[in-house]
Amino acid sequence: MTDTKALIADSQRYIANTYSRFPLVLVRGQGCKVWSTDGTEYLDFVAGLAVCNLGHCHPKVVQAIHDQSRKLIHVSNFYHIEPQIELAKLLCENSFADRVFFCNSGAEANEAAMKLAKKYAKDTGRAERFEIITMERSFHGRTMATISATGQDKFRKGFDPLLPGFTYVPFNDMEAVLRAVTPHTCAIMVEPIQGEGGVNCPSDGYLKDLRELCRERGIILIFDEVQVGMGRTGRLFAHEHEGVYPDIMTLAKSLAGGVPIGAMLATEEAAKSFTPGTHASTFGGNPLATAAGLAALSALLEDDLLENCTKVGDHLFNRLMDLKGKYPFINEVRGKGLIIGMELGFEGSQIVTRCMEEGFLINCTMGNILRFLPPLIITSEEVDQLIGTLEGILGECGKGVES
Ligand SMILES: *Cc1c(COP(=O)(O)O)cnc(C)c1O
Repeated sequence: MTDTKALIADSQRYIANTYSRFPLVLVRGQGCKVWSTDGTEYLDFVAGLAVCNLGHCHPKVVQAIHDQSRKLIHVSNFYHIEPQIELAKLLCENSFADRVFFCNSGAEANEAAMKLAKKYAKDTGRAERFEIITMERSFHGRTMATISATGQDKFRKGFDPLLPGFTYVPFNDMEAVLRAVTPHTCAIMVEPIQGEGGVNCPSDGYLKDLRELCRERGIILIFDEVQVGMGRTGRLFAHEHEGVYPDIMTLAKSLAGGVPIGAMLATEEAAKSFTPGTHASTFGGNPLATAAGLAALSALLEDDLLENCTKVGDHLFNRLMDLKGKYPFINEVRGKGLIIGMELGFEGSQIVTRCMEEGFLINCTMGNILRFLPPLIITSEEVDQLIGTLEGILGECGKGVES
């Protein structure tokens, strides 16, 4: 028998205190379910925060990790790496991109994107360009450059001085972007749907207008698809819904089915500024991670996951709208595919805790926005189970709350 109390005590004693964790140790996962040390089963609407899009321990990913770990776990990028080449090829064949730089996380992918944009400006004779415009309520990671890029004070507090050269504008405000562009602007970076910022969707034509502006002024357009890419919205990449394509896109989270990985994809034109010696990562594109990535992307393309995501996503959206019709303290339901946010008129943390007690893992972001990010294999029946429980919990917790 695992002594869960002792484990959690050691966790609190030895792990850097950067997360306020739930008193739960998850030890096993299969499909949409995870289990804790005491054997309690949970239906997982967090999925490692949009990482386990294929469900936990997808057999093809498990097999690929197993096979690759017996063949070759790591070699330097001084040499060509088989699964890295195959994954890059498959990503390019299924996207706007021509070239891929591999790294190990979303923040690193965004670092690569910003470095490339700056160097591209220099290489094309525009040395005065170094500024990057990003959006308020954005999230781009936790390194020094990516918290500098992130348009939320709470992530930057205490880490001064930040990197210079960032300008933040409200999401969905094209006029503000036009005012913010200067002769020094080298890039605009935006999430096609803001995840951490509360599941904020682009208004009609917004991404297209950004694209047009960037094309006119020779500015690099970066889409951060770390959270919404890899099928999360019902298309392989969220920007496909708008038919608008960036110069650079970043991926991570779900790319390798749960194994750490990041990737920066770029057009040939933008990518030409990365030449030998300009950027690197020891582990980037490592055989084990890219073998898992190749299996994960193949599974995503072969199985009917995108159709299921759209179908069950619509169902979840409609069921949450039913709850909105019933409870006046629900302000809004928004999202696409299986990234859906429900904005409450009060703090959502107690709802998350109550759902956990009833066997459902959900997330809350920005204090009052419940966020649902289940694996893309979730069924309508499983959604109905969650909704039934959530309806009761919202009824309890929302008592006496005016919207
Ligand atoms: C999670 C996330 C990141 C950061 O990814 P890490 O792997 O945690 O560094 C960057 N951008 C977006 C949109 C994200 O959701």
